[in-house]
Amino acid sequence: MGNSVKKGKVVLADQNKVKSLSLYKAAVAAGDQYVKTPENRPVSMNGKGRNTQEQKKRKTQLRIQIQEYISNSDVVIFSKTTCENCSKVKNLFDELDVPYLAVEIDKTDSGLTIEEELYEYTMETALPNVFVKEKLIGGYDQVIQLSKDGLFQKLLEGKEDKPKVDTYDFDLIVIGGGSGGLAASKEAAKYGKKVLVLDYVIPSPVGTKWGLGGTCVNVGCIPKKLMHQAALLRQALKDSNKYGWQIEDNVQHNWERMTKSIQSQIRSLNWNYRVSLIQNHVEYENGFGEFVEAHKIKSTNPKGRVKYYTANTFLIATGERPRYPGIPGDKEYCITSDDLFSLPYCPGKTLVVGASYVALECAGFLAGLGLDVTVMVRSILLRGFDQEMANKIGEHMEEHGVKFIKEYVPAKIEQIEVGAPGRLKVTSQSADGKEIVEEYNTVLLAIGRDACTRKIGLDIPGVKINEKTGKIPVNDEEQTTVPYIYAIGDILENKIELTPVAIQAGRLLAQRLYGGSTVKCDYVTVPTTVFTPLEYGACGLSEENAIAKYGEDNIEVYHSYFWPLEWTVPERDSNKCYAKIICHIKDNERVVGFHVLSPNAGEITQGFAVAIKCGLTKEQLDSTIGIHPVCAEIFTTLTVTKRSGEDIVQGGC
Ligand code: FAD
Ligand code: NAP
Repeated sequence: MGNSVKKGKVVLADQNKVKSLSLYKAAVAAGDQYVKTPENRPVSMNGKGRNTQEQKKRKTQLRIQIQEYISNSDVVIFSKTTCENCSKVKNLFDELDVPYLAVEIDKTDSGLTIEEELYEYTMETALPNVFVKEKLIGGYDQVIQLSKDGLFQKLLEGKEDKPKVDTYDFDLIVIGGGSGGLAASKEAAKYGKKVLVLDYVIPSPVGTKWGLGGTCVNVGCIPKKLMHQAALLRQALKDSNKYGWQIEDNVQHNWERMTKSIQSQIRSLNWNYRVSLIQNHVEYENGFGEFVEAHKIKSTNPKGRVKYYTANTFLIATGERPRYPGIPGDKEYCITSDDLFSLPYCPGKTLVVGASYVALECAGFLAGLGLDVTVMVRSILLRGFDQEMANKIGEHMEEHGVKFIKEYVPAKIEQIEVGAPGRLKVTSQSADGKEIVEEYNTVLLAIGRDACTRKIGLDIPGVKINEKTGKIPVNDEEQTTVPYIYAIGDILENKIELTPVAIQAGRLLAQRLYGGSTVKCDYVTVPTTVFTPLEYGACGLSEENAIAKYGEDNIEVYHSYFWPLEWTVPERDSNKCYAKIICHIKDNERVVGFHVLSPNAGEITQGFAVAIKCGLTKEQLDSTIGIHPVCAEIFTTLTVTKRSGEDIVQGGC
């Protein structure tokens, strides 16, 4: 064909071009209908003689003509001049500087006829129909998606082996029905997308398993916070005496009753998740997902039944599972947070191994429930957090009966007696070779968590993981090294592992993929709370990191101890609560770090996090009138700088 296709220019299949292509004779108007729904799919203007020899001949001619178009340009757009989506697609190709041939069906003499034949050829119900390198890509949605995935170049170079888009079973398959996966799937379905979520829990080494919803609801935030609450109630019971309540001294805690109530609450949340997926038209399957082809996954259900599904786009949200140290007896005799919250018996004297969020929170509530608890710390408490705050947490826990063994790790665990709980002998070693042996009823390992990314066939589509950590590196749009595969939540490299972060990332991703949004997840200045007996809320930089970033002379630290009014009557924990803000002097004393040790620290921190996101300065804090008498008011009256060395102990209100 002598038809010239210029870069980024629409080339009409008008009379002249048609002639030069030997395809059509004269252009006639074909009306403004451009959507070919199954109901109004194009039919021949003249239905008569449909099956005649002539008709068949005409159909064959048209099919050849369509195929000629498709084979004579790398990019062919079957379009109508009146179609908005067609214009958008052509504009996109113009912007991408990709040459194309546009066949404007409404400007050909055989518009409807070619449209009818095109429908039978592509089975696409709407225009435009876009072909790249003779492969049908689809319509507007698919083109926009390919553009977002950055796949055009690959397609044009003929390197993309993507099957026909319209043959996929789903628009989106989400592997992992936890905080991130569920949020993303429901959001995607709101945009009319066909979404499948696979969720599967591999039982822990001692056999614990749970329902839909992932770590947070089953073995994380939810049961942890509820057990923390159970422990706080014991403290409240103690305090109540001074407030006039006559509580028996021998008040007992019933572990089984607590876990039963908490597990019942969790089951109702599992159920709510199922209902909400149904309400949002998200398909759910209790199956283990793994890639078997670039766009195909295998789902194996708990009974071993296998199904296969294909999708245009994938989201990996498989989360993490507790790590084991690989020492004798670890998997046989120890438990992790995966087991603790549904443990059918009280754990008794417990060794908690690890010194971060999970370890300190669990040690805190177990001790708060009245158990004998020891924490084995390999190096420091709460690595990555402000160390002044971390050490104050440790001191407070120690004052409340938690024992710490510092700079030791367990070397082997042996069973002395089977039971519920049984008795275990733990041999531990220090870095300099010293050994201690101690007996416990339970050993709770909380030494970190491993990303569930190594057994899901990521090498098949070619998703790169960090071989050492198993984490998935993504760009700022949560896109992996394979453009149509995304990842969110705990499995991401160098991102914060918190439920609201996974949820936010999932929702925003779906909005970008299907709702035309450009908003990305902001992983900076994420507030968090460690639910130790004395809660620790933080937002922004630790003091160490602020010094490293701005230099010691460029930051001002304001701080104060405080004593919650409610604690004064029972006369406990005087001046153990602590407030600290770190301000960047050269930036108008903007608050770059916020730290509080306090009851309800999470509730306090959440509000200040909003202010920090809005650029909170020290002056604005000073000009804010406090609420009296509450803990958070301390932040409106901070006057003492750390540099001054002045006394920060509070006398009264
Ligand atoms: P998850 O919620 O872990 O979900 C992943 C899901 O995918 C799981 O159901 C998993 O079984 C499933 N899965 C894995 N592989 C496959 C597969 N191949 N096929 C199908 N399904 C698969 N965060 C907070 O914000 N606040 C807290 O107070 C808090 N407390 C915590 C306490 C503990 C003890 C722990 C362990 C974590 C806590 N977290 C907390 C962290 C929070 O739970 C996680 O950040 C969050 O759950 C991560 O969500 P996700 O979607 O990435 O993964
Ligand atoms: P983590 O933050 O990775 O901490 C692991 C801890 O175990 C560290 O103290 C580490 O010590 C220690 N450790 C590692 N290997 C060890 C070994 N072989 N022997 C002894 N100790 C060892 O893990 P995590 O506490 O499980 O928390 C995981 C994530 O869950 C957190 O990052 C957090 O985002 C999330 N989480 C959040 C909350 C919350 O929001 N309240 C609560 C729980 C969990 P070193 O410092 O020496 O390495």
